[in-house]
Formats: sequence, C-alpha cells, structure tokens
Amino acid sequence: MKLTFPRFGDSNIYGRLLFRELGVDFVVPAPNSAEGLERGAARAPEDICLPFKLMIDNLLSAWEQGADTVIMPATMGPCRLGEYGELLAVTMRKQGCDFRWILLDSISAIGVKELVHRLAQAVEDSLCSKRQIFRVLRKTYTLIKEFEKLEAEVRRLSPYDKTAGSSKAVLRTCRRALEQAEELSEAINIVRQSKKELHSLPRDMSKRPLRLLVTGEIYTQIEAFANHYIEDTLMDLGVSFEKNISIGWWVRNTVLNPFGGMLAEAKKNPLMPHRIGGYAKETINEALRCKKEGFDGILQLFPVGCMPEIVAKSVFDGLAKDEGLPVLSIVYDEMGGEAGYLTRIEAFIDMLERKRDMENVLSGDRCRIGKHGFCCNGR
Ligand code: SF4
Repeated sequence: MKLTFPRFGDSNIYGRLLFRELGVDFVVPAPNSAEGLERGAARAPEDICLPFKLMIDNLLSAWEQGADTVIMPATMGPCRLGEYGELLAVTMRKQGCDFRWILLDSISAIGVKELVHRLAQAVEDSLCSKRQIFRVLRKTYTLIKEFEKLEAEVRRLSPYDKTAGSSKAVLRTCRRALEQAEELSEAINIVRQSKKELHSLPRDMSKRPLRLLVTGEIYTQIEAFANHYIEDTLMDLGVSFEKNISIGWWVRNTVLNPFGGMLAEAKKNPLMPHRIGGYAKETINEALRCKKEGFDGILQLFPVGCMPEIVAKSVFDGLAKDEGLPVLSIVYDEMGGEAGYLTRIEAFIDMLERKRDMENVLSGDRCRIGKHGFCCNGR
C-alpha cells in the first residue's frame, strides 16, 4: 500500500511526519498551483467547487508518484460534501486512477467503531503496536495544536512589530523547518522554539490595529493557494485578525468531540437552526461572536460554486443591514489575478479605519494622528 492524502494547508507537514513515524509508505502530492488547478478543472464535473478541482490535481500528482490508496476527510452532510468522496472516486476512476479509498467521516455520522476500523486500514502496513500508534497520533495532534497556536499569535501580534514583517518571518522560517523535520518530537521543539523567538521580538503595543475575524468555507480558509495568500496580505496591511477554522479545529469537532462541539453549537444558533452542509453554520456562529467580542469587521471567504457559504452570505447580508456588522465576502474563482482581491480588501480596511476614527471623534476619543484628515486633531 502506498498512501496519499489531499494537500491543503499544512497537511503535507503533518501527514509526512505522521506516516513516516508509523512506518507507512506514502506520497505527498505536489503543491497547489495555477497549472494544477487548470488540470483539475479540465477533468472535474461542470460547476463543481474549487476545492474539488484542486483535489483532482493533488490525486493525479500522487498517482503519478505511485500512490494507490487515498485517505481523506469526508464529513457526510447534505451539501456536495456528503457525496464528495464518492464523486471524487468516480472522477479519478474515469482518469484511470483506481485508488482504494479510506474516507474519514465524522463519528456522529458513522460511529466510533467504523471510524476506528477505517483508521486501522490506514495503518495496516505499520509495524507499530497499538500503543505506539496511539502515541504517534497524540504527538501529531500536539504538533497541530502547537503550530496553530503559533499561527494565531502571529496573526494577533504582527501589526505591533517594530520591524514590519518580523513576526511573519518567524512563522515562515518555522514552517520551512517543519518541512525538513525528521520526526514529530523535533517538529514540536521547532514550534516551541519559534514561539520563544516570536515573543522576544520588539513591539510597539501602543498601536491600535483593526481587529478582523476571518471565516467562511473550511478549505478556502485552510489552503493559502485557494485564498490567494490572504493571511500574508492582512499582515502586510497591518491588521490583527483571528481565524479559527483549521485542521486542528476539524479534528477536534469531527473526531475528538463531535457532540460537544458542533451539535451543541447547532442548538444555540437562531439564525441557522439546521445544518445545510459544509460549515455554513459555524460561519454564522462566528459572525455572532464577532459582534459580542468587539471585532471591527468580518471577512467571509469561499470558493466559487460553494452552496452552503452562499446561503451563509445571505444571512451575513441581513446581519450587515440590521446590525451594522461590516462584512466583506470574497468569492475566489479560478482567475489568478491578485489586484482585484487586493483592491477590495484595502478598500474594506480603509472603510473600517474611517468608521472607527469617526466613532472616536463622535465619542470624544482621539483618532490616529489625523490619518484621514477629519479627526479631532484637525479641529
Ligand atoms: S462546503 Fe462548499 S467548497 Fe466545500 S465541498 Fe461543499 S460546496 Fe464545495
């Protein structure tokens, strides 16, 4: 068996270290690219969403490198994602890639026994004992958690850097080192070391950056190629932001705590009481949190052709109108041009800064040194 998995976010780092430590033969697909997207789009069903097209290319790339088994998160649900694995299998078979599939559905959909059975298939070639396998899985989850905490700190702290871009550089260096790491313990130490480096950077905490919440479709949030590297853009624009939906979030909510997490939240959400597929419900929950926790605005990201997030967008539009919640929805298509996205994000940030400065003027607070020419300093 030669295992592979779709490449999104840092799945290449986690998957490589996990299967290496388990002694399972595996292949990592080539990174996502414009050429890959073109190749996937040419073979995908018409009108399918962007992640599906990228995954086709991932799996073609893995097949070319000798992979014969795919392990992938499937998450049964009423949107296309419920049929995602099956549709992908049919599409790949038509391309002559007859993979064996291991679909990791949520415990709430298939039960603990079936999930354990499927996970056992993935490690059937491993010589490790059950105890060792469990230890490796736990270490992998620790690595995911630690690295995601580092990312969250960088997103929050980067606008305070005295030397612009220094937090971002720590994250980039850490990611590169993780790509070269030989084992999980080494990787965990690399992340812990990077965290220390991050906290030792000189900062100006008197700055008042905007605080944004980034939410939307899970794949687009996790995979930087699919969101045109929006995190780098936001850091370059000096914005502090939070983004909660991640690989670790998926593991927590789907595998580790499916009933406490998603289902408990489902009961709480009055704007979307039923699940409509994907993670639209979580997107709406995030918006409600944004209002409570005083964020300046929301960025909703989703790929063209994503049905659940289009529904979520209509809820956002209502919230923006009724509650004055500033939301920018960005729909990513197959076009590679950056300028259009960048202009919209810059304009949104500029609008939020003006709004905040105006509110400060009205409340008698001082705004940021006359940046927009109408602040209290100009009176
Ligand atoms: S949530 Fe959206 S992008 Fe994700 S599989 Fe469903 S339709 Fe596609």
